[in-house]
Amino acid sequence: MISRISFRRSAFPAAITALLAASLSLVFSLVTGASEPTRPVAPKYIFIFLADGGGITHMEITRMYNRHLYNEGLTIADKIMKEGSVGLLTTHAADSLVTDSSAAATALACGCKAKNGAVGTCEDGVIPKTVMEVAKERGMRIGIVTNSTVYDATPASFAGHVSNRRLYATIVDQYLQLEPEVLLGGGRDQFIPRSRPGSRRRDDADVIAAFQKKGYAYVSDRPGLSQAKGGKVLGLFGLRDLSFELDRDKSREPSLSEMTQAAIRLLQEGNRRGFMLLIENENIDSAGHIMDVTSLIQDYREFDRAVALAYEFYRKHPSETLVLVTSDHETGGLSFSGYPSVKELQKIQSIRISLSKAAEILGPSPSPEAVDRLVAEHFKGFTLRPELREAIVKKRRLGPTYPSNPTVGALGAMIANETKAFWISAGHTNQPVFVAALGVGAEKFRGYQDNTDFAKHLFALLGKTK
Ligand SMILES: [Zn+2]
Repeated sequence: MISRISFRRSAFPAAITALLAASLSLVFSLVTGASEPTRPVAPKYIFIFLADGGGITHMEITRMYNRHLYNEGLTIADKIMKEGSVGLLTTHAADSLVTDSSAAATALACGCKAKNGAVGTCEDGVIPKTVMEVAKERGMRIGIVTNSTVYDATPASFAGHVSNRRLYATIVDQYLQLEPEVLLGGGRDQFIPRSRPGSRRRDDADVIAAFQKKGYAYVSDRPGLSQAKGGKVLGLFGLRDLSFELDRDKSREPSLSEMTQAAIRLLQEGNRRGFMLLIENENIDSAGHIMDVTSLIQDYREFDRAVALAYEFYRKHPSETLVLVTSDHETGGLSFSGYPSVKELQKIQSIRISLSKAAEILGPSPSPEAVDRLVAEHFKGFTLRPELREAIVKKRRLGPTYPSNPTVGALGAMIANETKAFWISAGHTNQPVFVAALGVGAEKFRGYQDNTDFAKHLFALLGKTK
């Protein structure tokens, strides 16, 4: 039986605050005879949160997890959605009913449909401006935070333009041209010359040095980020993608919310014209691709902590801030089925490593004994059925809808069977995604819209007419 726990509501709801503000301004105008000061129509501070691969169910499962296991709410649902606007966005690409991250991010950043694989490039080959480029032209500072590689399709589509998302070195060069004031994430392998260990560049370019030449401070770990200062900061905290929140080395690697906090601090330094900040959690998509519900929830919680920082910022600057929370698409077709209760949530909670970490521990050719030891140690209370153990040992993929790594697929199936959190595939789906909006211009994002409308509204708010 699921216990009923009600949320503590704010003692001073936003509606009452707004009503008080309106009455005060009326009193002010009656007393002084002056008219109310004109409210700015354009947001000065714009936050764009992207849960890569995050569907409505991903959000809802995390909300239930927080509520039943921690008696905590979820800022996205309890603050942004309740106090702001909610809409739905289509997700399809120009050439497929199911999108990849580059086509979806191009729609969100540029306002045009794109083919899968294209970054910041419309279906007809037109190279449009992105919302970040326009924000920069308007004198706003711009920042990008991701736990993916910074050159991954999603952040890249907000900053650059390439016909193929795998042209990583070109994307990195385009960042250098655009000069976002804050660029934080993974992907150092494309910034260091090929002679350096871990490099995946084909040339000798030292892009970190090139950023430093342009006045950037460079940081590579969590302590460095907390002390970073200056007008422009480049932070690369791993050679490739950053870790799942479950596996993160907390002494070395900053979390998504820590990067968000640093970005807000850095973007505000000496800032008069406001900022636009993109925050992406790639691990929500990565967890879906490996059918890993525990990693998904832990990273969604981390995503929500980052949103909570923007909500706090909004409360300090309510008439100047817009907070947007959305996704590019849903990954995995995740859903509870079969009437689970808190017991199943507790089983999910009991897992302490990601499935990719589990596969790494086992290695490519594990013995049956090693598989049993891993399950006993890291998946206490779970039973690996003989056919699933055999799939791991014999390296047999369970089927075309399962992850290609047999270890990950079999452990994912074990967890789904015992937690009732099922996945329909290890790929993207065509579900529409929610867009939650709070602050100046939030009402534009209400209703059922195309994902290209998201960018169009931002262009209108930035005063771009064409
Ligand atoms: Zn994906």
